[in-house]
Amino acid sequence: MHKEAIISALVVALVASSTWAAPKRAPASKTVTESTPVEGSMGYDQPNQYIGKPMKQLAANMEPVVENAEQEKEARDKLAALEKKTGKKPNIVIFLLDDVGYGDFGFNGGGTATGNPTPDVDRIANESLILTSAYSQPSCSPTRATIMTGQNQAHHGIQAPPMYGQPGGLEGATTIAELMSKQGYTTQAVGKWHIGENEGSLPQNVGFDDFRGFLSVSDMYTEWRDPYYNPEVALSPERFKYIMNLPFNKGDVHAKKGGKIETLYEINTETIKDLDQKWADYAMDFIQKQKSAKKPFFLYYGTRGCHFDNYPNKKYAGKSLSRTTYGDCMVEMNDIFKRLVATLEESGQLENTVIFFGSDNGPEAEVAPHGHTPFRGAKGSTWEGGVRSPSFVYWKGMIKPRRSEGLFDFADLFNTSLAISGKGGAAVAKMVPSKNYIDGVDQMSYWLADEGVSNRRSIVYFWNDKVSAVRMDEFKFMPLVQITNSVVQAGHIGGFSGTIQQSSGSNMFNLYTNPKEDETVGIRHIPMGVPLQAEYFRYMEVLKKYPAKKVIGL
Ligand code: CA
Repeated sequence: MHKEAIISALVVALVASSTWAAPKRAPASKTVTESTPVEGSMGYDQPNQYIGKPMKQLAANMEPVVENAEQEKEARDKLAALEKKTGKKPNIVIFLLDDVGYGDFGFNGGGTATGNPTPDVDRIANESLILTSAYSQPSCSPTRATIMTGQNQAHHGIQAPPMYGQPGGLEGATTIAELMSKQGYTTQAVGKWHIGENEGSLPQNVGFDDFRGFLSVSDMYTEWRDPYYNPEVALSPERFKYIMNLPFNKGDVHAKKGGKIETLYEINTETIKDLDQKWADYAMDFIQKQKSAKKPFFLYYGTRGCHFDNYPNKKYAGKSLSRTTYGDCMVEMNDIFKRLVATLEESGQLENTVIFFGSDNGPEAEVAPHGHTPFRGAKGSTWEGGVRSPSFVYWKGMIKPRRSEGLFDFADLFNTSLAISGKGGAAVAKMVPSKNYIDGVDQMSYWLADEGVSNRRSIVYFWNDKVSAVRMDEFKFMPLVQITNSVVQAGHIGGFSGTIQQSSGSNMFNLYTNPKEDETVGIRHIPMGVPLQAEYFRYMEVLKKYPAKKVIGL
């Protein structure tokens, strides 16, 4: 196609998008059905197909939803029946891995095939709702803040991880921990925090009753101590002292609501080997204690593994097929998840506990050995490899095992947790200040209805405070792209390498026919590009009313 023709097509698409409105269609179908009898139509509609369907705005400060009254009723009835049986609200566990890729587990084609068998996670995943299109933010702290606030990184403002004592964090945010406490839950955080080390951002000051873990990220405890990775620091007393004196906590810590941080011991290249085991023991002890508690609990569990640098526990060194530090750590993660689920079962709480499993971002490709993804890109980018998480939600007897392509954003954990506690749909809007925009949507009915479909129509991807891409159905419109090898072509390069570029405006990918995102279909598939661009412009209007902010980031 000539350049003039391309520009002309784009102009047509842009003009059309500004006036585009959803045509009226039949209600959502649960399974593949014959298309509605529209003259000239052929073929089938699929579940989780939303281009052409209307959205409903439940409140001014919330993302609109795709409503499905029938599945909503089914979910509520199921939940009410369970509460009648147990006499309390369900417990909620969020199990979050670090830098583990979409392709690292057997349930997604990895596991043994990538040198790190994960049989127990795979078994539990196969008894769960596997979310094949679950999205995190591109990196760690932004994702964790998204889970805590129900906002994407433009709205909560944490767009980069705070490193080596950098200021900023969750302080001032309305968190899920705070709101679940108000809903009558015991709130426990275990493991990695990394959403701010200043007093006001600490877990015990943003709503958690108790915290055991570390305050930042794995490498900050060890990389500067290790003469193999950073000899320029580890083998220089002056530089070592400089890092030692930086204002960040260097230990495994404990705190109780409103109290002070107690450092239990210092973490170094030896003590780090036992960290994940110690945290698992702590969480299992917590779960056991909840057995006879009147209150339900909300447990936020962040693993150390498998963020670089992995120093395998003695029991796991060499245990993976690959025998890499990463592979060994993956095997340990499999066992830890198995132990947590077994503890819930032994203590009689499994049937009253919903467990969400995921990773905070894609594999970190700049430091080997690292995780795997079948998609383009890695941690730090908005290519699918950076943000598509290996995820499932397990609830014995309550969630029908299945695999679904319904869109799920980690921000939805905020709304969905509140919905499970009794505050679903529009109720969430009143629980946060009216100036806060909630990017999450209530996905309780997607999870619980036997053939539930997503209540989310689109995924909006962010790079820093800018919209990078929008996905609807299998299409992804991508106006802002990361070019990984634009600066260097050698060494390990990943999502944080390279440059960010504004694309020409026609870059659109079909994630089914081209999951590697290396063939743009923006011109061939203009009829799908138009609603994608309309969705992009809709969200740009949201950002005008609820502007992006910057707490941490470039
Ligand atoms: Ca991470």
